[in-house]
Amino acid sequence: MKEQEAGLYPLPWRGFGGFIHATTMQKQEEILSEEDKQIQQEFEALVQDYLATNHRKKVELITKAFNFANAAHKGIRRRSGEPYIMHPLAVARIVVNEIGMGSTSISAALLHDVVEDTDYTVEDIENLFGKKIAQIVDGLTKISGGVFGSQASSQAENFRKLILTMSEDVRVILIKIADRLHNMRTLDSMPPAKQYKIAGETEYIYAPLAHRLGLFRIKTELENLSFKYEHPETFKMLEEKLAVDEDNRNRFYQEFSKPIDEKLREMGYKFELKARIKTAYSIWNKMSKHNIPFEEVYDILAMRIIFEPKPDMSEQSQCWMIYSALTSIYRPHPERIRDWVSTPKANGYEALHVTVMGPGGRWVEVQIRSVRMDDIAERGVAAHWKYKTGETDESELDKWLREIKEILKHPEPDAIDFMDTFKLNLFASEIFVFTPKGDIKTIAQGASALDFAFMLHSDIGFHCIGAKVNHKLVPLSHKLDSGDQVEILTSKKQKPQPEWEDYVVTAHAKARLGEWFRRENRRTAARGKQKIAEILAGLNLEMNNTNIVRLLNHYHIVEPQELYLRAGQEALNLDDIPKLFKPKGKNVFTRYLKLFGGGGGQDG
Ligand code: MN
Repeated sequence: MKEQEAGLYPLPWRGFGGFIHATTMQKQEEILSEEDKQIQQEFEALVQDYLATNHRKKVELITKAFNFANAAHKGIRRRSGEPYIMHPLAVARIVVNEIGMGSTSISAALLHDVVEDTDYTVEDIENLFGKKIAQIVDGLTKISGGVFGSQASSQAENFRKLILTMSEDVRVILIKIADRLHNMRTLDSMPPAKQYKIAGETEYIYAPLAHRLGLFRIKTELENLSFKYEHPETFKMLEEKLAVDEDNRNRFYQEFSKPIDEKLREMGYKFELKARIKTAYSIWNKMSKHNIPFEEVYDILAMRIIFEPKPDMSEQSQCWMIYSALTSIYRPHPERIRDWVSTPKANGYEALHVTVMGPGGRWVEVQIRSVRMDDIAERGVAAHWKYKTGETDESELDKWLREIKEILKHPEPDAIDFMDTFKLNLFASEIFVFTPKGDIKTIAQGASALDFAFMLHSDIGFHCIGAKVNHKLVPLSHKLDSGDQVEILTSKKQKPQPEWEDYVVTAHAKARLGEWFRRENRRTAARGKQKIAEILAGLNLEMNNTNIVRLLNHYHIVEPQELYLRAGQEALNLDDIPKLFKPKGKNVFTRYLKLFGGGGGQDG
């Protein structure tokens, strides 16, 4: 028997006569081929996913990227024990299925860890796959380290790197989010300390980024997974409560949805009704925010109506028609209507949310969306571009991305400042305000009249003297509320004042003011330097290092730049200079004494 088996494998070790070895090797071969099959299956699933999309069918490119990555990661395993390539494959599937991107991004996702983890370089990738894919892989490699290092400054620097890379090509960040999502889904195999760190980073950086990019579903999952690892006990408790409640919930949903289903059919719509269950994280959020027990969170169950719009009417009107059909069945809550149809959110989200009273007096939120709106809500940016016709206005999302790029063109010299400024905008939610002409504008919550001025135009910001909010005169620092009508007042004579930096919260206004003050300081310093040079010239002295150091010591200033600036601001008494440089022994002697502790003598 053993003879026969071994005979199937005419391998060199047979010569050593070790049949026990033979059996071991054979098992290994079986495992390997089983794994190869698993890898192959996953790749074929990816290709199927891709072929089911509307993208061009560039299967060859994807196959090439897969073969290359597969060979490069050969023999390497993830901590979970599975072959490494299963990770890039999973990331690529998220990229196509959950974000909706095409062959370039899929290939970059397959290759995303090759440069980081193997001996291949970005140049190798460029030679084989071209510049674009190489650039994306390069971006992903640059931000591969954790955002949170051990020191505050390196965290900030990494965060800035992340955002800089993102601004070069938004696909970098989309693939990075897919990468993070898969790592979060498989976080179980990591040691707890690492789980905690990765979960924190996800909650702090990646969930808000996903939110900003309109990847609503992914954002929700990232938050929920972070919560799972940061508060494992609470998470488990809530999951159990949700499971217990499931049968009840299903029965209720059946009863609630039946008349809606009938009514929409009657109206001749093609549609889908979906039950949406709140995640443990979002239930917990609500419980802690309103200080209520699980049983009092009434919107655990929500319903989504996704309809195919009829051709001869705007999607917006059809949302409202469905709204009135719905509210003819169930009574709406008067204060719980959210219209993201007339005014989409800054991240591109569109839908009509209404809360109605269902059977047994239970409040249920219903979200009304067209197929297109649903696609945008689920997949964010990628879907957004898919529907963009070119003639339409720049979307809020495009505006946001443009603003980020603008900020990055003039980055703050201090990375921590930059991070704070940026984070502020990442986390802030928006309010709506109106211009005197009735145009609606979106701006960060907590924004002041001055922020709004800067949003209209930098020059309006620089020359802003005040504003009229709802026809009443207010100061620059006045905080705006949603629905305010805002008119900005300007004067040519006005210019930015130092305290303005405390009045603004938006990254845009902060960046513009920062730039202005830096430019102004440069001018003032140049003036100051000129003044000092003139005084020195009058004393027949040169503007050399020795003389500058003497001035610095005299005024107790460390940096020459600071000296020039303060001279320019007329904050220094420059009449000191001739005295200081008077070539008299007495002066030198006094300084000599001072230098060596002549007055105190404590050094003995
Ligand atoms: Mn990865």
